[in-house]
Amino acid sequence: MSYQKIKGTQDFFGIEKQKFAFIEQTAKNVSKRWGFFEMDTPIFEATELFNRSVGDETDIVKKEMYTFLDKGDRSITLRPEGTASVTRAVVENKLYASTNPLKLSYFGPMFRYERPQAGRLRQFTQFGVEVFGVESANLDADLIYMAVETFREMGIKSMTVKINTLGDDRSKEAYQEALRVYFSTKVGSMCKDCQERIVKNPLRILDCKIDAKGEEIANAPKMSDYLSFESKAYLKKIVDLLEQLDVNVEVDQTLVRGLDYYTSTVFEIIVESESPGMKDLVLCGGGRYNGLSKDLGGPELKAIGYAFGVERVMIALDEKNTWNDFNASTDFAILAMDDESKTESIKLANLLRKCGKTVELDYVNTTLKPQFKLSERINAKTVLLIGEEERRNRTITWKGKNIVENSNNLPQEMFRNDQQTISMEQFFKRLRIYTRTKRWMEKNPKAYANYLLMRKE
Ligand code: AMP
Repeated sequence: MSYQKIKGTQDFFGIEKQKFAFIEQTAKNVSKRWGFFEMDTPIFEATELFNRSVGDETDIVKKEMYTFLDKGDRSITLRPEGTASVTRAVVENKLYASTNPLKLSYFGPMFRYERPQAGRLRQFTQFGVEVFGVESANLDADLIYMAVETFREMGIKSMTVKINTLGDDRSKEAYQEALRVYFSTKVGSMCKDCQERIVKNPLRILDCKIDAKGEEIANAPKMSDYLSFESKAYLKKIVDLLEQLDVNVEVDQTLVRGLDYYTSTVFEIIVESESPGMKDLVLCGGGRYNGLSKDLGGPELKAIGYAFGVERVMIALDEKNTWNDFNASTDFAILAMDDESKTESIKLANLLRKCGKTVELDYVNTTLKPQFKLSERINAKTVLLIGEEERRNRTITWKGKNIVENSNNLPQEMFRNDQQTISMEQFFKRLRIYTRTKRWMEKNPKAYANYLLMRKE
């Protein structure tokens, strides 16, 4: 019997895991500069939370949730997205009382039972941000700009922000009614879900995955014809600001987003695919959800947020091939030629690690060949060698980058790949040339002295 990962999930290791961590770290660093604080919520929640917030008629709730009864017969769902959980946590813990605006970010796995394909997984990872307590076109533009900057910092230079507004409550109602009238004669030839949506939530027809490309949808009434003056002005201000910030922004009146909690501003960030046959990638989606806190039993709290999928950003960066160099390198590999030298090598390795150096050693072999193989595999900058002779003479053999002091006593790195046997005093002198090591030695004179004594015996 052999075991395989579940369809639509991924293992991350090696360089892929480093890419993943780079995306995570960049997003966290950028959001910190915008004043966000990280938070975590549980991976599963009461099913009702998502029914209520994401919406009964959405694809996510109808078809994609991992829902099960736990041993206490409660209906539990693995979170398909983060906004519902964060808003639940803000209301439950009264976080809104402490700061205004409240700026929170989250990072973690989400679960949707979708048809797996490139960039569409059943377990994927989202980084998301939410701001509670303020409604302003200035904030909306600044938040969208933060998303753009995040992707730019990761190496994606060209992208488009698609933006739309769902209007205020009155505009939204008028538009829903217009859609109902328009689709009433056409819905007969559309999918089963759309036939239900026309009664319960006609807006959802516009982002139907089956009928999306149809003429009926392309010719449907446009939200812009039902918008109040204020809603139009609000959207225009965001667009103007983003243009002034040098963002490529496009108003897309068909953009409604597939979750019910959205109100007013909605947006997506798209990267054009360069490979023929590949669809453009939607990296990020977000918008305002001014009614959600109240819907979940909290106070009325204006709010906006967005989320992006780490795996999808990885695809975009792979296509553009703009990754950093992830070839890890190790500062030192220590080779030991007999058992006693092995003990010595462990002590020296740990002293160097305390100095902030990356050190690797072979725990088993005392012959040269396998130990050199290891140092090559880990791409060691310097190889140190300890054998009986080195121990007897209080020396060490250094192979790799040589540091030579010139006549002005200034260190100069020479990239000669030669081998030298040097005294331990010389060895530590070389190390001290690296400032970090020097600082550590000054702070820990005892440990350093002990090491020198230890080698004397
Ligand atoms: P949404 O929560 O649907 O607005 O999605 C926000 C972002 O999450 C998308 O733009 C994607 O980057 C990512 N995402 C959503 N669904 C998936 C999925 N099934 N697999 C991978 N990434 C996803």
